[in-house]
This record gives sequence, C-alpha cells and structure tokens, in this order.
Amino acid sequence: MFRTAWTFAHLRGVPLRLHVSLLFILPLISVGVAFEAAPMLLGRLGIPMHAMTLPPLALGVLLAVAVFVGVLLHELAHALVALRQGARVRAITLMVLGGVTEIDHDDATPGQALWMAFAGPLVNLVLGAICLAAARLPLGVDLHAFLLLFGLINVFLAVFNLLPAFPLDGGRMLKAALQFKLSEEAATRLAAGLGRGLAVLGLIYGLMRGDIFLAVIALFLFTGAGAELSRVQVRAALDDLSARQAMVTRVVTVGPARPVTSVARHMLFHDAQAAIVRDHTGTYGVLLPEDLDREDAEAGDLVDGQPLWAHVEDPLGPLVREMRWRRKPVIVRDDFNTPVGVITLPEVGRAARLRRLADRALQPGGRPVESEQSGA
Ligand SMILES: [Zn+2]
Repeated sequence: MFRTAWTFAHLRGVPLRLHVSLLFILPLISVGVAFEAAPMLLGRLGIPMHAMTLPPLALGVLLAVAVFVGVLLHELAHALVALRQGARVRAITLMVLGGVTEIDHDDATPGQALWMAFAGPLVNLVLGAICLAAARLPLGVDLHAFLLLFGLINVFLAVFNLLPAFPLDGGRMLKAALQFKLSEEAATRLAAGLGRGLAVLGLIYGLMRGDIFLAVIALFLFTGAGAELSRVQVRAALDDLSARQAMVTRVVTVGPARPVTSVARHMLFHDAQAAIVRDHTGTYGVLLPEDLDREDAEAGDLVDGQPLWAHVEDPLGPLVREMRWRRKPVIVRDDFNTPVGVITLPEVGRAARLRRLADRALQPGGRPVESEQSGA
C-alpha cells in the first residue's frame, strides 16, 4: 500500500514505518507550533514564551515529534488489541494525515470491533491525563510548558478521533454499538449518515470562517463515510456470489522464462485480460496488464511462486478477503484442476454491483433471492 515508507522497528512481528510525507509535514508542523500554536496556547495558560529558556523552534520540533509519538502509541493500541483478538496486522505507517494501521479483521464481533476502535483514543486520553497531572508538579518552566502542550495534544487526538464519523474511531465505535441491534449494513448506513451530517456542518462552518484546514478535514470525513458504506455493501453482496461469477475468462498461459514484452504481445493477440504463469512443473502466479511494469523482466520474475487458488463454486467472500490481504488475483480451477479464469478486484466490484441491482429488482427491500446461475 505505502511503498515509500521506511521500516524503523518491529513490534510483535508488525513493521512500524515512517512514510516519506513526514519529511515535508514535520518541518511545517514544527514551524507552525513554534511561532503560532505554542505562543497562543501558552499565552492562554499564563506562560509567556520569553519566560522559557528553550528556543521556540526547539519546542516546535520537540512537539512535532511528540505529536507523532502520540499517534504511534494510538495506532499501537489498535494493533495490539487486534492481534490479541486473533486478527492479522500488516503494518503501522505514520504519514502526513496521522497514522494508518492495516488490519484484517472483517470477522470481528461488534464487541471486538468496539474495543479495537476505542483502544486508540483511550491511550491518548490516559497519556493526556498523566501529562496534565504531571505538569502540576514543581518542574522547570520548559518541562512544565512541554507537559501541558503534550497533554493537550493527546486530549485533542482523543477527542478528534472519537468524533462519530468514518474513518475515525468514533465512527467505527458507533457502527459497532449499533450492530448490537442492527445488521452490519443498517448499522453502517446509520453511522455513515451521521458522519456525513457532521462533515457537512464542519464544511459549512469551515467555509464561513475561512478555515481551509477544517474544510479539508470535513471533506475527508464525508468521503470516508461513502467509502465505508460501499465497502460493507460490496462485502454483503459477495455472500451470494461464487468464484465463477467474478472471474475473467479471457486468460492465456505463459512460461516463466518468457520476456515481459512477449507476454504483452501474447495477451494482446489473444485479447486476454490476464496471463497465468506456469510450466510443466507448476503454477507460479498471475500477471495482469498493470503488473507488466518492468520491460526487461521475465514473466517468472514478476510473480512470487505462491498463487492463490479457488474452485469455480467457492464462495466469493472469503476469497476476496484473502485477495485483499495477499494483494494478488485468484486463479480459478474447474473439477479437473484446469485453470479456467482469474478473479481480479475490478471484476469483484462488477459482480457485486450486478448482485445488488438484481436483488433490488426482484425483491425490493427484501432479502437476497435464490442465486440464479449466470456466466461470468
Ligand atoms: Zn484510531
């Protein structure tokens, strides 16, 4: 997902990574904190900047780094709870908009999802409370100011993330709480609707005050609601689909030693959407047109030798989950173990859309109808 990131540590097998965008945002935050946020906040707290021995820029850099430490601890809390619940965690990446933890936990119960989402803000709340309490101790003015500001940053991180809007933790918590009474789709629709409402209010307020930052955040929350809803809707539609209904069938077979340019020619000649890399000893993987990014490579160089397989009648839901996690297409075989097609994510989206439309036409507002067989 984020190729331009540097892994600086591992925790319980989870890589912790810094995205290249931090190189740009950290200096910006440092300067913003040093010359705007810190003087303003400290002024309100009765601590004039000139009373401090620390130069403003040093305080800015310290606090900018501290923000990302707060974000990292927040993400670690999500990841550790997810691991404890038996989920797979790919990585934690710190980047321009904060932190991202990639978790595969689609089968979480509402209780598990609620706890997993709350763990992040909870860490910031606790950290904020500790810092604000420690700031009451008789410490030097520099440490006092730093603890106050770091405490406030953590309280802000907790409160912001608890807003009931996707993709924030508060949105996920609301959805999980609603799922105790409603289906996942209904819960998501309700939570997404509330999130969108909040986003619209934020956007209007931001535009009225000329606050571009707030307006951008509001837009981010508005699209987050739509993304979560369509993700859940696609997943619900997959329950009634099999591998056969989401595969491309115009597929060619190529040997691992074939040059990429020749693979491209072969695919073009046969009007193929995918190429399965295999020889008499085995199958090595699938190449889609977008995978052919190295002209001087051979087909075998671009696959990892561990293809995902499915039978034509396998249910689509678990397959798609595995595809997303392993980031590769699925080869579909028939009863004779012959490859007959390849499942790609765009094909999954197409099949899910058809499934939803078909259900709506046949049984308005009702449950999915018996699956009628159709070709891919
Ligand atoms: Zn979070």
